[in-house]
Amino acid sequence: SSHATTDVAIIGAGPSGAAAAAWLARRGLAVEVIERDLFPRFSIGESLLPQCMVHLEACGLLEAAQAGDYQVKNGAAFTWRGQHAAIDFRDKFTSGPGSTWQVERADFDQRLIEGAMQAGARVRFGSTVDAFIPDPDRPRLMITDAGGERSTLVARFVLDASGYGRVLARLTGLARPSTLESRCALFTHVEDRIDCPRHDRDKILIGLHPDCAGVWYWLIPFRNGRASVGVVGDRATINAAAESDSERLWHFIHAEPRLATLLARATAVRDTGRLEGYSADVAQLHGPGFALLGNAGEFLDPVFSSGVTIALDSALRAAPLVERQLGGEAIDWDTQFEWPLRRGVATFREFVEAWYDGRLPRIIFNQRQTPRIRSMISSVLAGYAWDCTNPFVDASRRRLNSLAEACTNEPDSAFPTS
Ligand code: FAD
Repeated sequence: SSHATTDVAIIGAGPSGAAAAAWLARRGLAVEVIERDLFPRFSIGESLLPQCMVHLEACGLLEAAQAGDYQVKNGAAFTWRGQHAAIDFRDKFTSGPGSTWQVERADFDQRLIEGAMQAGARVRFGSTVDAFIPDPDRPRLMITDAGGERSTLVARFVLDASGYGRVLARLTGLARPSTLESRCALFTHVEDRIDCPRHDRDKILIGLHPDCAGVWYWLIPFRNGRASVGVVGDRATINAAAESDSERLWHFIHAEPRLATLLARATAVRDTGRLEGYSADVAQLHGPGFALLGNAGEFLDPVFSSGVTIALDSALRAAPLVERQLGGEAIDWDTQFEWPLRRGVATFREFVEAWYDGRLPRIIFNQRQTPRIRSMISSVLAGYAWDCTNPFVDASRRRLNSLAEACTNEPDSAFPTS
């Protein structure tokens, strides 16, 4: 079997892999990306957050993404039993972009990795990493290509951006179960035919099931008259609804009045997909000669569309450290990578927990908060979850608790808790 060398080997060509590859290749390092699939390929994770725009700019991929001419997203709308509420990202506490896009990931991911290739990264598609030998200076990857040919890639540093593949977490024993409850998602793309003048295509729509606590929906409009629609809940509730995943998905859509109305004329343009038990964690986000990016490290929950934001954030934190380490500097990966990255992830986790235990829905549907408080929440939901000057980042739990408590005194506080 053959034997090649590179400065940085990256497992996976999704957003985190492409961002790290582009950044490092622009700095003149030899970068080799190993991607199992052939692109373009479908991926879930279509609603971005404004914070992503900062990261795309920082790795030089903003223009490549802009060429996709995607549906603008400037906030999130929520619906529950005929009540409506919206968070506008442009009214936010933290400075930075106030809008972003909703993207079909097959197209978006393709554009990002092509941008990384233009910056000088090499990409091997159809090649799977199946073994790893950690080493502080010469970590090695074993790769099987589409024809079954085996080869070894010796790098000076390895970044694992393999998403749900979780390649190094599994191979090095770092994988840990998530503390979040295991849930299940069913989803498809539709030709949506939405003509309701009250529907704002510039926002993701999140619906809550009128009766089943913890069951919620997304409606993510795209540019081309299509939309992504999905339902999330505990597996037993989802499975009990009907015989097939497609029937289950439409059963739930018909149970939520706003979505049922909006999607009355919609037709599916792809088979219903299913993902479950996707929340995952690791004991540590780095080891000798390697670091874990994006979903290959930790994944929380889809509700606030934080996945791609965290993936890009991790890539833009790790890449400069890799460059410095390869330049001879000693890097403390705990204090310079893992702890600051986990800080923002912890903010999102507090919001995810508050979503499922009912505190956050109560806050969102309460329209009487001051604009300043709402701007702080908007900031976190826009992805600015690392801005410690925001009290809802610095003391998320305490702030969410006291705000939710204040809402319990509202007359319309009959929100279900799980
Ligand atoms: P990925 O995009 O998953 O890329 C990993 C790549 O690695 C893949 O191309 C894969 O083929 C490759 N790979 C895997 N194993 C190997 C191997 N052994 N060898 C070589 N290559 C390999 N996020 C959002 O931001 N917004 C959303 O609206 C959103 N909705 C979601 C809905 C659901 C139901 C779920 C479960 C997640 C959602 N997410 C969302 C999360 C989002 O999908 C991920 O966070 C995001 O794709 C992570 O990017 P990544 O670069 O880490 O990995």
